[in-house]
Amino acid sequence: MRCFGLGATLSPPFSYVAPDTAFQPHNAQRLNIMNNFLHFSSFSYIDGLQHAITTRHGGSSEGFYASLNLGFHVGDDENCVRKNRQIIVQDFDFNLENLTCAQQTHGANIEIVTRKNRGRGALDWQSAIPSTDALMTQESDTPLMILVADCALLLLVDEVNHVVAVVHAGWRGATSRIASQTVLKMAQSFGTKAEDVRVGIGPTLCVDCFEVGEEVVRAANEIAPQTVSLQFEKPHLDLRELLREDLRSVRVLDSHIETMTSCPRCEAETFFSHRGENGVTGRFGVAAWWKS
Ligand SMILES: [Zn+2]
Repeated sequence: MRCFGLGATLSPPFSYVAPDTAFQPHNAQRLNIMNNFLHFSSFSYIDGLQHAITTRHGGSSEGFYASLNLGFHVGDDENCVRKNRQIIVQDFDFNLENLTCAQQTHGANIEIVTRKNRGRGALDWQSAIPSTDALMTQESDTPLMILVADCALLLLVDEVNHVVAVVHAGWRGATSRIASQTVLKMAQSFGTKAEDVRVGIGPTLCVDCFEVGEEVVRAANEIAPQTVSLQFEKPHLDLRELLREDLRSVRVLDSHIETMTSCPRCEAETFFSHRGENGVTGRFGVAAWWKS
């Protein structure tokens, strides 16, 4: 597969037709997207913290992966993915060789990133930190990235102790309590107090789009039964509320949780959506780092 050259990638957005053409979005909205990226507004006041959520626009990949696919593991040309990561560095202004990524598995393993292991997965899939769905660091100049296409991405920050974490959470991660486990690991490893933690929950499937089976219903019922909606023909899950409930269970303050309402499936022209595109699609994500 070819990819556009760097020059061509900065041209106006491609035209894209979602394969699921019968699907009518439920909560499509006008997003405040700057230069193809989104930001949590409550994190802009944290001194030294940088973060951005990517969209599918502004990259070099073509076809199902058009255009800013950041995932090496989804069938796209690896050279296009490397080029796309170079493109975000132009806007984000961090050292690409320090970008740290995980081989995400819908598990609940959380890895601490130091100067010794930073940069793993920056330019290929093989060297990414294996079997890990959350990364955290206290180090400056150590950008962390989590990739998604329907699952939730979370950004957690403890400004007092200079700790940042990024998390991947689908229903498996959420019901394994990866969000609250990340807070507890911040406490255990860096002395974080839950009431100091700020959390951002990024674009993820809305309840209308998230039909689930009995296995998910059983798992969600153990944490927060109210997050299972029975208003549809089959059960649906409110993943955002499930994550918030898990965070509340370790005393993260509601007023410290910012939740984006964007849904990749409803807004397939803006984000990659695994469900919306029948499983063959790219990945967008969150990158976060402390400036040196
Ligand atoms: Zn939706």
